[in-house]
Amino acid sequence: MNIKKVVVIGSGTMGSGIAAQLCNANIPVTLLDLKTEISEKAKKKIIESKPPLLIDKSKIDYIKTGNIDEDFNTVSDADWVVEAVVERIDIKHVLYAKILKMRKKESIVSSNTSTIPLKILSEKMSKEDKKDFCITHFFNPVRYMGLLEIVSENKNDKKKINFLKNFCEENLGKGVILCKDTPGFLGNRVGVYAMQVAMTEAIKMKLSIEEADAVFGRPMGIPKTGVFGLYDLIGIDLMADVLRSFLKELPKSDVFHEVAQEIPLVKNLIETGYTGRKGKGGFYRMNKKDGKKILEAINLVTKNYSPSKKIDLNNDDKINIIDLVSRNDKFGKYAWSVISKIILYASSLIPNVTKDYNNIDEAMRLGFNWKRGPFEMLEELGVKFFVEKDSKLKINEFIKKLYDKKINSFYGKRQIYTNLETLGKIKQSAKIYKDNKSALTYEHKNYKIVEFITKANTLDYDSMNALKNASDKNMIIINEGMQFSAGVNLNYVMDFAKEKNWRAIEKFIHHFQMTCKQLKYCNNIVISAPSGLALGGGFEVLVQSDYVVSHTNIVTGLVETIVGLIPAGGGTTNMLSRWMQTQEAKKDPDFAPQKVFDIIGYGKTASSPTEAMPFKFLLDKDKSIMNRNKLLSVSQDLINEKKAVYKPPKQATFKLSGGQVRDKMFQTLEKLYKEKKILEHGMEVGKKLAFVLSGGNTNFNKELSEDDMYALELQAFVQLIQMEKTQARIKHTLLTGKPLIN
Ligand code: NAD
Repeated sequence: MNIKKVVVIGSGTMGSGIAAQLCNANIPVTLLDLKTEISEKAKKKIIESKPPLLIDKSKIDYIKTGNIDEDFNTVSDADWVVEAVVERIDIKHVLYAKILKMRKKESIVSSNTSTIPLKILSEKMSKEDKKDFCITHFFNPVRYMGLLEIVSENKNDKKKINFLKNFCEENLGKGVILCKDTPGFLGNRVGVYAMQVAMTEAIKMKLSIEEADAVFGRPMGIPKTGVFGLYDLIGIDLMADVLRSFLKELPKSDVFHEVAQEIPLVKNLIETGYTGRKGKGGFYRMNKKDGKKILEAINLVTKNYSPSKKIDLNNDDKINIIDLVSRNDKFGKYAWSVISKIILYASSLIPNVTKDYNNIDEAMRLGFNWKRGPFEMLEELGVKFFVEKDSKLKINEFIKKLYDKKINSFYGKRQIYTNLETLGKIKQSAKIYKDNKSALTYEHKNYKIVEFITKANTLDYDSMNALKNASDKNMIIINEGMQFSAGVNLNYVMDFAKEKNWRAIEKFIHHFQMTCKQLKYCNNIVISAPSGLALGGGFEVLVQSDYVVSHTNIVTGLVETIVGLIPAGGGTTNMLSRWMQTQEAKKDPDFAPQKVFDIIGYGKTASSPTEAMPFKFLLDKDKSIMNRNKLLSVSQDLINEKKAVYKPPKQATFKLSGGQVRDKMFQTLEKLYKEKKILEHGMEVGKKLAFVLSGGNTNFNKELSEDDMYALELQAFVQLIQMEKTQARIKHTLLTGKPLIN
């Protein structure tokens, strides 16, 4: 079997997402809808999507569009037909009859349904057709959500299901979990239940929506959208449909019924067009007052909107759920109520819904971006603590068995859905060094692994220490969390800036530079294996690694100028050295500095390895990997392949024209200033960047070393951080997560 051609029917949110991911895997796909205009429009939307569904816009050429009347014959030579039309069984049944008549023998047919059981979808099919029909439940947005649930039954051809699982892992990069045909499968069964508990408990306990989202968010290891924010994102009307389906499918004895009843406020929101972000707003809405955009939140009691309040829970960045549920305030009580119910519900599904509790945790991680699933939460709380904290808790069989046997810690293997050797799996057996609060170091086989563990994996002195210490062996820098690194920890830098302790900042940046230099020139191979954000300082680690094994979903680049700084951890120097090796640079010595001036000055970023190549953020020697779970094994193979012949690179030298190229850069800045594209502070930042990239007070006859360049970077950084305007920009970014425009 092989999948070389796919037809996707239904070009809405999911159909177009699936088609785009097939393009990313270089697989030709025909996208059909009721009319060709609809699928054509979907194609345009894919190109314009933000965040982009395509890893490279040119991949769109893999999609052909059409309609189900004139172009249905495309089904006849498809290896896989994916149905992603509206959630209506009558419409789906009519389609299946047509598909099954037309399809190629041996082809696979699947539905993307979220709520209709497989046995109902396939009830009219022959025994032979049932063998080849299953549910492939992707999550939105398809490129970015890791989970794919494949639902099959006994009648299915098991070999084919396994083939499809491997194909979707390998080519589409998904974490594929095989599920039984039970309502909501695994992700939604637990994820939607969790959302409903979080919502109904907030109403019961009279928390504001901001308060509920502040708890049912980062402190619990859940994305910061929380529950009400997530409701708005998914669509309040869509959630109501999903709940109706759960109520229909689940027996009355299932406690899901207790939390899924219609809530008058929600009904009212839907009826008045407040369906969430796609509508007029939802629990949150954007309002304009005096020309300014203001985020407002609804009051669950009065139903009126008022400006959204920031809730400070006074907890640090580390998630400690024992501390959270032990708090003696409304936040602690809410957290306990929600977490205990989720744990009880998830564990009640074992063994009937799945015998592997780990699959539920992984589904929550991959499908809902939770840091840990309900069973890991139970493990962290400890079975004894969980059972004894609240005498009113109705314990189920799963927990009772553990408690009676005095098993406090029960967690077994992780990521059992995949055969790949992942970081999550090897952590259980690797030797681990825990002496660093910003990074963990593991020793595995013949190499070391460094994993950043701060919020968004921002980098500080300790992160650098971990890297430096691990460079005594071949090393892989990789993370289980979503982001590689969002850059230098600006809070850490600002704490020194507040005290005007410029010396400490200088010391830190110098340490950063020397650590990255060590990565580059030590006698061991250093591989960075990023996914998610690899920005600023995060990119500087990549650019000074020997190889980068990158997940296709990276966002990378140097964004320092946006907060009024310049890259000073070797980023400016290394980008310059990369561009100096081009043919253009050999002809025109001012070419490379000017090119890098543009890239860094505009804070350019790439949202995939393919986009990163033209900027030289990544090079031909680096690898691009679709399945995040493979980053570790590919890096490991690379070490084994290269270790016998590895030699550190030669140190770069720089011949730059100094004032000559700087004048050209200043002219660019003047022009931007006149056109009001930058203001005074932007000019200042641009001038400092120009000074570094031009080599400072130098000329073509002088040869500068990398250390000379590092010194220029460092000097510029320390001068810029002393500026009030830079500090204001950083503060704004830290507070809002967004850059300050103007
Ligand atoms: P959508 O409303 O965005 O798109 C449905 C598309 O199907 C529309 O373009 C419509 O014109 C087309 N269509 C309707 N009848 C058709 C027919 N007979 N032939 C061809 N095309 C037809 O819906 P969606 O959100 O993409 O959902 C599609 C499926 O995926 C549903 O089964 C849904 O339950 C499931 N799903 C949705 C999500 C999600 O987050 N939206 C997530 C997982 C699964």
